[in-house]
Order: sequence, then C-alpha cells, then structure tokens
Amino acid sequence: MAARILIAEDHPDSLLLMSYLLEAHGYAVLTAVDGEVALALTRKHRPDLIVCDLQMPRLDGYEVARQLKRDPELKHIPLIAVTAYAMLGDREKVLAAGFDGYFSKPIDTEHFVSELGLHLLPALRARPRRGVYAGG
Ligand code: MN
Repeated sequence: MAARILIAEDHPDSLLLMSYLLEAHGYAVLTAVDGEVALALTRKHRPDLIVCDLQMPRLDGYEVARQLKRDPELKHIPLIAVTAYAMLGDREKVLAAGFDGYFSKPIDTEHFVSELGLHLLPALRARPRRGVYAGG
C-alpha cells in the first residue's frame, strides 16, 4: 500500500507542484487548502506524513501543529512545515512549535521527495500492518 501524505497548502501552484512530485513517486496524496480541513482530514484518514504550509486561512500551520502534537493519537505523524519566509530564526520557531522538519519555498524539487522519505521511514516501520497475509 502506498504511503499516504497530506499536503496542507492554500497556494494553488505550490499545492499542485508538491502533489505532482509526490504522486510521480508513487505516494497517495490528500490535499487541504486550510488548517481546519487539514485537521479534519488527519483525524479521518490518519496520513503517514503531513506537509503543512505555515500561512493558511482559518487555522495557520502553527495552530495545526499545536493541535496535532497534543493529540496522543496523532502526535506521532511526522509533520513538515513549508513556508515562504526563509528568514533566519524561523527554523527554530518552527521546530519549537512541534514540527519535525522544515522546507522553505520555493520548493527544491530535487530534494523535496527524498527528504520527506527520510521522515517517512520510521513512521512506516511503526505503522500497524494492514492487509498482510497471516495464514499458515
Ligand atoms: Mn500559504
């Protein structure tokens, strides 16, 4: 079963680019255009990894991180920030908010998928097996 990645991003071009890259590498992609939808889809579908824009309507990425990381059932999901603000010090703020990693926009298309893969490996190992033949 393909690993499932939720992308929360309100900017259409950026959402399309990230979706394209991940689908081209065989991932199943869910998309959300604001933080509230991102939380709802996470609770419903339990993705294996979440890529989350920081500046979004309704709920921003920081609030999404706060809510996910205080939920015992969701806090293990790797949560990766993307932000247009490549400012010095932003990275520390992002990690302090509970994010597990950080990308700045514009997305580096050569490294985006492989770096997400590094965050996915431990999550996939920990995932309960589903649909595995267990007969004798
Ligand atoms: Mn945004």
